Amino acid sequence: MATLMLLQLDQENTRLKAQLESLLREARRNEDRMRRLDRIERQLIGADSLSELIRLLLSEYKTAFGVEQATLTLIDREQVLTELLRENPDTPTPPRLCPTLLPTATGIMELYAHGGIPWLGRYQHLQHAALFHSPVIGIESVALLPLVRQGELIGSLHFGSRNPERYGAASGTEFLERFAGIVAVCLESALNRDRLRRVSLTDGLTGVQNRRYFEQRCKIEVSQAKRHQLPLSCMFVDVDRFKLVNDTYGHHTGDDVLRIVAADIQGRLRAGDTVARYGGEEFVVTLPRTDQTGAIEIAERIRKGIEAKTFPTRCGKSINVTISIGLTMLHSDQIQQDHQVAATQLVAHADKALYQAKNNGRNRVEWVTLSL
Ligand code: GH3
Ligand code: MG
Ligand code: MG
Repeated sequence: MATLMLLQLDQENTRLKAQLESLLREARRNEDRMRRLDRIERQLIGADSLSELIRLLLSEYKTAFGVEQATLTLIDREQVLTELLRENPDTPTPPRLCPTLLPTATGIMELYAHGGIPWLGRYQHLQHAALFHSPVIGIESVALLPLVRQGELIGSLHFGSRNPERYGAASGTEFLERFAGIVAVCLESALNRDRLRRVSLTDGLTGVQNRRYFEQRCKIEVSQAKRHQLPLSCMFVDVDRFKLVNDTYGHHTGDDVLRIVAADIQGRLRAGDTVARYGGEEFVVTLPRTDQTGAIEIAERIRKGIEAKTFPTRCGKSINVTISIGLTMLHSDQIQQDHQVAATQLVAHADKALYQAKNNGRNRVEWVTLSL
């Protein structure tokens, strides 16, 4: 009798031990998950731009949590996100690291019809295929996280796992709910920061970059030219006899002329070129990977384009305007350690060439060889 009781007790003990071990394993797993989540949340909070935030979500999270796919949909009602991401040179380009941008939330709202909280469960091709990168192979369970700010759905984050049990309908959603909350706040704040940065670096009148942006960008261009051993050309553009336009047709017409000239220059440049309003009626352009012949060709195209244009005045008349352009080029082997010095010299020499163009009769392109 006593032996039987002892045996039963021993069996009970073994069962309890196994249960305890399983609970401990689960607790350690949770602790480990919390630690990784905490690390990634800190990174998200520290992200300095929208591009960086998106990269963290779609790349870091995927690696840290071993999920098969991580995808993000963002609502972009006024195409602000599209523009900000396009303008940021750090925006990742591989499709797997790009968010899907939708003009309205209609498409993703139905995912959260059950009450605006994360949805965890088995992958269902009909409902979920469009949320992931195709071909969707090996995804067995999914977590869909609504991103909400001030009661409004601003996006949706999706994780797909090979493990059918990873995201079970019965598993708790608190971790992911908290995570989605942090992601939504970080997205909003990164968006606001990017918007503010953009306003502070854009010229209010013409919409092209301002001098502050140019000064930052020019240094980056110099270091890129040095690193990749490529030439870098710089162009200074000045509207001829602009004071006369203002004096004859008024400042509003003058402003219109500046807007048109800026848009025209911008429209004739390539994706990697930068145009900025340097001040008054002067614009500065960087032409990376462009040597003397290439730069003169671009400058002549711009000059002739403006010459051929007619500009409307506020009194209903049309006028013609011309520009003068000064050019110079930096060879990568001229660039020493101090990129700021090279950038300053580049601008100074282009300005010198512009002065020459003015002295030689205006409506022309002049070149000055840069010597450091
Ligand atoms: P040049 O061919 O030698 O360049 O002659 P210019 O008349 O263009 O040059 P000047 O430097 O004498 O005059 C530039 C004028 O640009 C004077 C200034 O009032 C005007 N200006 C500067 N900023 C603005 C602006 O934002 N809007 C308007 N409408 N005019 C501006
Ligand atoms: Mg002028
Ligand atoms: Mg001027």
